[in-house]
Amino acid sequence: MFDPSSPIPQCNPLASYIELKAEIDFAIDSVLRGGRYILGPAVASFEHDFAHWIGVHIAVGVGNGTDALELSLRSLGIGSGDAVVTTSMTAVATAVAIRRSGATPVFADIDPVHGLLAADSVARTCETSGLRIRAIVPVHLYGRCADMDAIGDIAEKHGLAVVEDCAQAHGATWKGRRAGTFGAVSAFSFYPTKNLGAIGDGGAVITEDSDVGERVRLLREYGWKSRYVSDIDGVNSRLDELQAAILRVKLVRLEADNARRRSIAAIYRSLINNHKVTLHRGNDDGHVYHQFVVHADDRNSLQSHLSSKGIGSLVHYPAAIHEQPAFSQAVSTPVPLSNTERWSRTVLSLPMFPQMTEAQAMRVAEAINEW
Ligand SMILES: *Cc1c(COP(=O)(O)O)cnc(C)c1O
Repeated sequence: MFDPSSPIPQCNPLASYIELKAEIDFAIDSVLRGGRYILGPAVASFEHDFAHWIGVHIAVGVGNGTDALELSLRSLGIGSGDAVVTTSMTAVATAVAIRRSGATPVFADIDPVHGLLAADSVARTCETSGLRIRAIVPVHLYGRCADMDAIGDIAEKHGLAVVEDCAQAHGATWKGRRAGTFGAVSAFSFYPTKNLGAIGDGGAVITEDSDVGERVRLLREYGWKSRYVSDIDGVNSRLDELQAAILRVKLVRLEADNARRRSIAAIYRSLINNHKVTLHRGNDDGHVYHQFVVHADDRNSLQSHLSSKGIGSLVHYPAAIHEQPAFSQAVSTPVPLSNTERWSRTVLSLPMFPQMTEAQAMRVAEAINEW
């Protein structure tokens, strides 16, 4: 029976499995019985379906989202001696991937409203860094697209590639066009809690450039052009056949899942009215709400209050990347990052997953208003 006081988790990948259990179990069983466990028909079919869903010709399945971004950069010939501009308010994976390619992450500041890479700060970074900047990596944080017009203009002016980090933005759009279709090449993650999530690790690179796609195919499997003969310096990062079969089942529901996320967001946006809590109520066209974030000066007290009511929440992210021990010496920060540093002190992600009920969303809003 539905218990109105039962805990509400921040995210719930199990609910997604339970909802599709019969289809997922069937898909897994088909792979098991098929006997092809690496780069077989399920990966090929998923690559086809995912590319079609996004609206591009080429998708290449890889081991995870971090590898997707690393191989995207490497497929453009970006590596040692190069620099890549991105945001410091993102999953650390974004910077890990840039470093793994051999390049140096260079951080520009975010806008204070959405937390997305700020175009004016990117422009200043390109003008002042003194580094050999080769690419801009916009991150469509929380499911909202970065300003792809302004970023495209800067990239064109400085002769830079755009490589999109779409790990939080499956299906997000900017002026009606899908995330992933703006860059020369784009990276997706299928980590279980993402809008399109596997039951384990997974990732994909998408592109319209067949040379780039071919290089990613080589890079993901030891640089093999033909079997057992490495043409280039590759890695082992293949999308798993089981995960691909599961992702094919879930892809069919992605549009509807994103719509459910948007209706939960609509409840939050209309019901939360505590003056100590700020949230964005403006235009959210194209936003797929990977996360729904609010801000509070006393964020930790809000988080404890929610927790005392059985409501989960998370902080994305408690420290900017340039403030983290592994990165403070390995990145470049040519411009002030004051919006970024302020963001991590006040931001809080509320419960958000497609299977959440209206009643649960209302309970979260009530608990916030009580605080
Ligand atoms: C999840 C995520 C990644 C990395 O994905 P993995 O599959 O965990 O490697 C990269 N960038 C962003 C913004 C993410 O949220």
